[in-house]
Amino acid sequence: MNLLDHTPVTWGNILAEKGQASYRGRQIAHWVYQRFTTDPQKMSNIPTGVRSLFANGALSLTLPEVVSTSQSLDGTVKMAFRLVDGPVIESVLIPRKGEWTLCLSSQAGCGIGCRFCRTASMGLSRNLTTSEILSQWLLASRLVEGLPPEDSRIDHIVFMGMGEPLANLDALIPSIRSLTHPDGGGLSPRRITVSTSGLVPRIDALGEANTGVRLAISLCAPDDALRREIMPVGRIYSIDEILEACRRFPLRNRDRITFEYVLLAGVNDSISQARTLGRLLSPFRSKVNLIPFNPFSGSPFQRPTEAAVTAFQDTLSGFHITATVRKSMGPDVLAACGQLARELQDPLVLTGGSPT
Ligand code: SAH
Ligand code: SF4
Repeated sequence: MNLLDHTPVTWGNILAEKGQASYRGRQIAHWVYQRFTTDPQKMSNIPTGVRSLFANGALSLTLPEVVSTSQSLDGTVKMAFRLVDGPVIESVLIPRKGEWTLCLSSQAGCGIGCRFCRTASMGLSRNLTTSEILSQWLLASRLVEGLPPEDSRIDHIVFMGMGEPLANLDALIPSIRSLTHPDGGGLSPRRITVSTSGLVPRIDALGEANTGVRLAISLCAPDDALRREIMPVGRIYSIDEILEACRRFPLRNRDRITFEYVLLAGVNDSISQARTLGRLLSPFRSKVNLIPFNPFSGSPFQRPTEAAVTAFQDTLSGFHITATVRKSMGPDVLAACGQLARELQDPLVLTGGSPT
């Protein structure tokens, strides 16, 4: 039983069921979540009886293997992990104001098939388990301890790595609960953002789970016809249905939903499309995140010009919509949005950041 598959509040009970004092659960949680230690031998206040539960396999804190860590010239760090059964997944650490934002994967690959996304070309291998989601955070936290600036930490988490997080709610929600619990990661849920391609019933389910996390929607098109072309999931859920689900989503005071919009030259970046988007979103408490397309080999799309990006942004401002342009981080190590897709045969990049 991997403890990381269970929220730390339950660890006491798990230990008690195995004949140990329940407060040991909290002690172990402290080692794991505050010290990022998963080796029971290093947990100095844990008695041999508890350690032997790990030694004989009754309990585990197994983490995936880190297969590479590469740092981009801009400071972004991409980590790749090999799961027990083979698939490789990635997380990205993005430096921001002296702290780090961690971009987590929720699935190995992705089955949604957005035409502009490199992860889509892998297809879906499988959902990640809760422990595999949390392991990315744990191993990244460990790494951050040794990186400058000193005493920096991961203060934001975005589920914007590989995979569609809402297609894996069963593992996503417990991982959020562990990241936010005071005996766990202790993060405020408002510092966690879940991004989705727009799985309507799952948006409702996430809202009903009352985790308090923020929501981001990858909209990427101002009308259904174009959306269906570039995001096949648009054939199942219309933009109106997605916006209705956003209205139902529990938002705290002054929180806003983020709409992500990948700008593809000559496809969805015209002024008239910006106006359509502006009309669509202006009744909303929202902000727009414009992401100029990050190219990858074999993709049919092109990155828009800076002038087109600015004109798109200015048009949205005319509708009183705050639109930010996301700077593309780590392009030299293929860590930018939509570029995560590590194949097993990829050469391993060692720490130090040689551009791929
Ligand atoms: N699957 C979820 C979470 C991944 S987020 C989702 O799609 O929302 C990944 C973000 O990167 C999404 O907003 C997606 O629209 C964007 N993206 C995908 N491919 C991209 C690319 N090639 N260039 C720029 N952004 C991309
Ligand atoms: Fe999956 Fe998101 Fe990529 Fe679409 S953009 S294929 S939903 S990871």
